[in-house]
Amino acid sequence: TYDVHIIGGGLAGSEAAWQLAEAGWQVRLSEMRGSGETTPAHQTDGLAELVCSNSFRSDDAESNAVGLLHAEMRSLGSLIMREGGVHKVPAGSALAVDRDGFSAGVTAALTAHPNIMIVREKIDTLPAEGLTIVATGPLTAPGLAASIGGATGSDALAFFDAIAPIVYRDSIDFDVAWFQSRWNKGDGKDYINCPLDKDQYLAFHAGLLDGEKTEFREWEKDTPYFEGCMPIEVMAARGVDTLRYGPMKPVGLDDPRTGRWPYAVVQLRQDNATATLWNIVGFQTKLKHAEQVRLFRTIPGLENAEFARLGGLHRNTFVRSPDLLDPTLRLKAHPNIRFAGQITGCEGYVESAAIGLLAGRFAAAELAGRALAPPPPATALGALLGHITGAAEAETYQPMNVNFGLFPPIEGRTKKADRKKLYTSRAREALAGWIAR
Ligand code: FAD
Repeated sequence: TYDVHIIGGGLAGSEAAWQLAEAGWQVRLSEMRGSGETTPAHQTDGLAELVCSNSFRSDDAESNAVGLLHAEMRSLGSLIMREGGVHKVPAGSALAVDRDGFSAGVTAALTAHPNIMIVREKIDTLPAEGLTIVATGPLTAPGLAASIGGATGSDALAFFDAIAPIVYRDSIDFDVAWFQSRWNKGDGKDYINCPLDKDQYLAFHAGLLDGEKTEFREWEKDTPYFEGCMPIEVMAARGVDTLRYGPMKPVGLDDPRTGRWPYAVVQLRQDNATATLWNIVGFQTKLKHAEQVRLFRTIPGLENAEFARLGGLHRNTFVRSPDLLDPTLRLKAHPNIRFAGQITGCEGYVESAAIGLLAGRFAAAELAGRALAPPPPATALGALLGHITGAAEAETYQPMNVNFGLFPPIEGRTKKADRKKLYTSRAREALAGWIAR
């Protein structure tokens, strides 16, 4: 017997299970990986597997919204943030993790918890009764997706996320490439940089436009991209300089061979604890694999690059939450069911875990017969939750990262740098008040 059934052991489901178990409730956590099933992006049976980048993005809680979310989650006993800290790898002011160590740490903590039963099984229909949290993510198995569609009465939407390629460090030419973080932030050497001169950049740009792409299937064609995960070739098609102002921006990076900023730069970020694998930052793509190898080897320093993984594209399933969910993430039509994670239309590892944390806490409060008010909108948790459960435009609802644009505006005129600090100090106060209540 159990108090809550959580479906999906990803970022959100793992965090929700932890929160409920720590509050003393019995959890059944159903995860289909490990039962002979998988998704198009997962590669292991580990819980909380990171399917793409190994970054939790900025860890700066003073002036960055996702950094603030990190801090709020830590203050609420987040397992995902705890294990992220344990398995941290160098990444400037960002929090990046060794993906295998991180997933193993989360799996071990949940397995060892006396209140959690992990069952390797695929769930095909929404349970008719009993408190349930659906945290099956952007790659929810089709059977359950159909059942969700039936219960919500509205179609789940689909769009694309893209995977960036990963390169073995020992195949990079360090006579050309160099270690440096932009403006020497962090320890100053967290990224590998590959410089391009103007001719090389223009040739690379043309190669992106001409390269053979994976074709969309008929049903995928009308699907809009999420801006944050736009394929590099789509960005390139917007204009010849778009990449030089985006992922290939050279500012703050001094080529040691010239002492100057190059015309354009390709950056690689550490992907595992032993620093043998590096991902090409912002290079998510739907170019065909052979084309990726050919084109990315025209980048100076990557002429002999060996790829541990090439870029790719995946489906993303999410419900129209602003219409369907109440302020505590319950399906209005079936209040025994909560949604959590990316399937609610938040975007990102941290956001997914954050919504899992809230779903777990709301369910725990409900079991205890208490009403738990949502966190105030001035907090990162509250701003994100508020967006999902009502603040967003339902008609045009698209997945969203946490950002200061979701917070109530700061009144009066302030400098941009000061404004961020005002957001975060106001958030700290608001969260402390919420926790105290
Ligand atoms: P998941 O972590 O996917 O967890 C859902 C779990 O449910 C999975 O373990 C799955 O096996 C299981 N499951 C699914 N259906 C069933 C079923 N019927 N029964 C039982 N179990 C089931 N975010 C970032 O921050 N950075 C990135 O670089 C990034 N890259 C991404 C790349 C791709 C290809 C995709 C699809 C998403 C990416 N995201 C990224 C977005 C998002 O942050 C992650 O998908 C994140 O893992 C979402 O967390 P989640 O817990 O909602 O879902």
